[in-house]
Amino acid sequence: MSDLTNNYTRLLERIRAACASSQRDPKSITLLAVSKTKPVEVVTEAIDLGLREFGENYLQDAIEKVHQLQQHALQWHFIGRIQSNKCKLIANQFSWVQTLDRPKIAQRLSNLRIQPEPLNVLIQVNLDDDPNKGGVDRNGAQTLLEQLLTLPSLAPRGLMTILAKSTDSRVGYESVAQLHQDLKQQFAGDLAQWDTLSMGMSADLEEAISAGATMIRVGTDLFGARSN
Ligand SMILES: *Cc1c(COP(=O)(O)O)cnc(C)c1O
Repeated sequence: MSDLTNNYTRLLERIRAACASSQRDPKSITLLAVSKTKPVEVVTEAIDLGLREFGENYLQDAIEKVHQLQQHALQWHFIGRIQSNKCKLIANQFSWVQTLDRPKIAQRLSNLRIQPEPLNVLIQVNLDDDPNKGGVDRNGAQTLLEQLLTLPSLAPRGLMTILAKSTDSRVGYESVAQLHQDLKQQFAGDLAQWDTLSMGMSADLEEAISAGATMIRVGTDLFGARSN
């Protein structure tokens, strides 16, 4: 078996075990394969294993893969920092944007989206006040969601978070899950499909699943260490 096959098998086992211990159905978890820095051949191998959703941070890299793999029915997720001057490409080459944290960017993505179906977006939250990463706090999430509900080409699907290294992952993920619930209640009548909670990476996917993650984003434990 190849390394990727081995890694994937082990990962599915971890997801299964984490779901078993919190009485969840493994089918309720989407595995987002974070293929940043990995060549198209590796992504092709992952497609052969049955993976269909891929996460990318670096736009130029990603777009090359999106084009080369067009014959497959894949969902590409943008999970990097969004630069304002890259919004046109991001809005049209991806099915999902997980790192939305600014009203101005939301407006631009909606204006620039050409496809008839809306772009799925997750609000990136940063509840541990880590200045080194993006994301909004509780109030910011509420304000941004209010705005998203007025933008025709964006579909708000939920929240995404990256925890600070110093944050206890159980506590951190539970507070994001709570916010996801609170917003769902607050905007109950207006939200068509508020179903996604993207949290948990290679090192802490168990804690995320136990807190209610519906999507885990795994790079290292699937594709191996990144050299850059
Ligand atoms: C790189 C990255 C991941 C994957 O992290 P691993 O520890 O390699 O599994 C997940 N989410 C985001 C936003 C990333 O940039």
